[in-house]
Amino acid sequence: MDRRAFLKRIGTASAGVVFTAIAGGCGEEQMAQPVIVGRADYSRPKLRTHEAEPVEPTPKYSRRRAYPSNWYPEKDKEKKWRAVIVHHSATGTGCASVFHQWHKYQLGWDGIGYDFVIGNGSGSGDGEVEVTYRWRTQVTGAHAKAANNWANRDAIGVCLVGNFNDSRPTSNQLRSLAKLTDFLQRRYGISDSNVFGHRDTPRLVKATDCPGRHFPWRTFQNMLAAK
Ligand SMILES: [Zn+2]
Repeated sequence: MDRRAFLKRIGTASAGVVFTAIAGGCGEEQMAQPVIVGRADYSRPKLRTHEAEPVEPTPKYSRRRAYPSNWYPEKDKEKKWRAVIVHHSATGTGCASVFHQWHKYQLGWDGIGYDFVIGNGSGSGDGEVEVTYRWRTQVTGAHAKAANNWANRDAIGVCLVGNFNDSRPTSNQLRSLAKLTDFLQRRYGISDSNVFGHRDTPRLVKATDCPGRHFPWRTFQNMLAAK
């Protein structure tokens, strides 16, 4: 081997050593990196724990709620109800006794057709919930004519005083309606899809615009969803 060839080999070898050193250096840097990652790791378990935490659903049925005692029917009379139907009185003023007189003596019914009446401050209190004899005695109502009379027999009729083709229910009326509907839904296992406006009652025999075109159905649904 001549000197040139020897130096060439040395050079190659040196280059190999340098390469190894660089690779080693990289290796060291890689060795060093976990320390940095390791420092970051101290916070990661917390993040993971947080991310893994299950989001607890709002306990819709476990909260204690207070409802007026006269909303509860007598145990031995209580029926199984399947739906709630919302009405307006189509009058600016009124209360349960006025509608009772009207339905009984003008229309010749047994008495007021609804189970509940919610006042608007004219004729009865704003948001006041009146319980009628239909509810107290748990008899078939007279508020929504549908096939096989299913709605009067199985659905609870709630009437808000007012003409909601001209105006809107008061906020107190809506609050009372939401609370009452929520109570009825919980007590009888009635789903949101079985809470109807009169006009949307399935298998209705006679078309109606009740509870009026200004009844804020979406607001009411949102209030129920928030219960
Ligand atoms: Zn109606």
